[in-house]
Amino acid sequence: MQRTLVLIKPDGVARRLVGKIIARFEEKGLWILGMKHMAMSQEIADRHYAEHKEKPFFGDLCSFMTSSPLVALVLEGPESIALVRKLVGATKVAEAAPGTIRGDFALSTQQNLIHASDSPESAEREIAIWFGDSELADYKPCDGAWVN
Ligand code: ADP
Ligand code: MG
Repeated sequence: MQRTLVLIKPDGVARRLVGKIIARFEEKGLWILGMKHMAMSQEIADRHYAEHKEKPFFGDLCSFMTSSPLVALVLEGPESIALVRKLVGATKVAEAAPGTIRGDFALSTQQNLIHASDSPESAEREIAIWFGDSELADYKPCDGAWVN
C-alpha cells in the first residue's frame, strides 16, 4: 500500500472541477486519507516546488499556485504514486492523452489542474509539507475493498 500527495490546483477549484477530479480517483478505488481546502503560501510554494526553484517558469508557477485556494489530498492504494500520475496525464498540454484528467480538462501546461507526487521520496516529503499525522485517517479496509 502506498500514499501519494495530490493537489487540485487553483484552476481546478475556480472551474468547479473538484468533484469530478476526486470522482476519478474514487472510482479507480483509491482511498482518501486526508483532504483540505486552503491557500498555498509562498513559503509552502518554496518548499513544495524546491526542485523547480531555478526553472524559468518558477515565478509564474508560484504566482498561479498562491493566487487562490486549492484542495490538497492524500490518496492511498496499491502503487498509488505511479497510478495517480497515469490518471493525471502528461505535464505538457499537448502530450496529455484523452482519458486522463489533464487530457480531458486542461488547455495549459501551467494551469494543468493537478499536482501529483512523482516518487516515494517526493510523496513522503510532500505529504509532510501539507498534512500532520493526526490529519490522516487510519483506514483498516476489509479484504477486497480495492475491488468494486
Ligand atoms: P508535473 O506537475 O507533471 O510533475 P513538473 O514537476 O515538471 O510537472 O512541473 C511542475 C508544474 O510546473 C507543472 O505541473 C506545471 O504547472 C508547471 N510547468 C512545468 N513545466 C512548465 C513549462 N514549460 N511552462 C510553464 N509551466 C510549467
Ligand atoms: Mg512534478
